[in-house]
Order: sequence, then C-alpha cells, then structure tokens
Amino acid sequence: MPMLKLDKPLNKCRILVTNDDGINAPGLKVLEKIAKSLSKDVWVVAPEQNQSGSAHSLTLRNPLRLREVSKQRYAVDGTPTDCVLLAVNHLLKDSPPDFVLSGVNRGANMAEDVTYSGTIAAAMEGTLLGLPSIALSQAIAWKHAPRWSSAEEHGPDVVRKLLAAGWPEGVLMNVNFPDAGAKSVQGLKLTRQGQRKISSAVQEGKDPYGQPYFWVGLIRTKETPKGGTDLEAVADGFISITPIRLDLTDKATLTALKTALA
Ligand code: MN
Repeated sequence: MPMLKLDKPLNKCRILVTNDDGINAPGLKVLEKIAKSLSKDVWVVAPEQNQSGSAHSLTLRNPLRLREVSKQRYAVDGTPTDCVLLAVNHLLKDSPPDFVLSGVNRGANMAEDVTYSGTIAAAMEGTLLGLPSIALSQAIAWKHAPRWSSAEEHGPDVVRKLLAAGWPEGVLMNVNFPDAGAKSVQGLKLTRQGQRKISSAVQEGKDPYGQPYFWVGLIRTKETPKGGTDLEAVADGFISITPIRLDLTDKATLTALKTALA
C-alpha cells in the first residue's frame, strides 16, 4: 500500500483546516492556532452551522454557497464533506493543501461514535482525495468547560510526529485529547477503536402544544472497555491515536462466507 507522506518541509506546507462544529466554534480557533504553529499557509473552510452527527453526508440536492469570512477563512452552508470538496476541488484547485486537519471537535470521537462524526468524515474525505488527514477531538466532561489547553498545547507535537511517520493511503488518523489540563496529560497511546453501546433509550418529552418529541443520542453506557482502546487511553489521561481504515470490509467474514456459500 503506497504511503501518505509530505514531500516538503512542514513549514512550507499548505494546511486545510475544517470541522463539524461550525465556523464559529471555539475548537476551530484552537485548531487554527495549532495549524499556524506548523505553517503560515493555513486555509479554513468550515460549515456555517453545527454539523455534528452529519457523518460523511454530502449535499446533492441543493446549491452550496462559499462565503469569505476573512482572509483565507471561508464558510460553506453544507456539511464537513462539502467543505473539503469545495476547498480541494474549487477554492485551492490550483495549489491544493498538503494535508487536512479536522476539529478540534467539542467532545471525543471514539468507539462507534466515529461512524456518526462529521469531524472524522472530513478527514475521510481528505483521505479519499489522497491527502494525509487527521481528525482531532477534545474529550469533555459536561460538568465543566472544555479543557482546550490539552489539544492546544499537545496538538502541534502530535501532528508533527504523525506526519513525519506517515501512514498508508486509505487510512486517516483519529486523535482524541483527554479531559485534562495540558500539564496533566499522561502522554501518547496508539489505540484501537473501542466499543461503547449507545443506550437504546430514546428520551421523550412534550412540547408546549402537548405533542411528544424525542431526543436521541444523549444516553451512553458508562463502560470503558480495556485492552488498548481509545476509550481506555483517554479515560486514563492519555492522548489517543487510532488509525482508521476507510475500507470497512471484514476480511474474516468474507473468507468464512466464501467457504459457507461455495
Ligand atoms: Mn462536532
């Protein structure tokens, strides 16, 4: 498998920054700072609205608008995937980015959450376009404000190390920072995707007209499975790095079915 590797020094790179929390999200500012500490050539193309939970969706039935917010900073009235497509195939077509950073998401993207995440999806799109792509998320506890310093202070080093190492085509890097102050971070851990079942409960309420409404996705089981998972590392105060492959084929089942259905 060919490797994704930078062909120039990091400080000469053009960096595309995007997210799923939207153009005004505090985490986007954190990621811009991280990016600008690596290279001066930073372009931000992010959704107008919060697109958390949009996964890898793209806008097929509506026109998209690209709004220049300020120099090298744009908003798109679409999904994170739309943002990466417009940035790479239109805005920066003549001089494409060297790599993509997505985040820093408000909240972790671990275990099955990676399949819902627009933050991860933007990195998926970058990967499909042949660019090294890193998703960054800041774990938070809802009882206090996000500790962005964890991502802000350790982010540049993590990105630098990953890009220097390189990784195969078709793979993205999923980085999660623990809910800890920068100085309390325990270090880096390479992890696998964990499992955390979303509770089957759907929260029901009544609107002011007495009609029922439903709220999904809020309730999680608290378990933190062991065994080198993203969940375990972040719970223990480590920065988790999980390589994620876009090819979702389960090779063991494929082999088993070839025998079973022969
Ligand atoms: Mn989000």
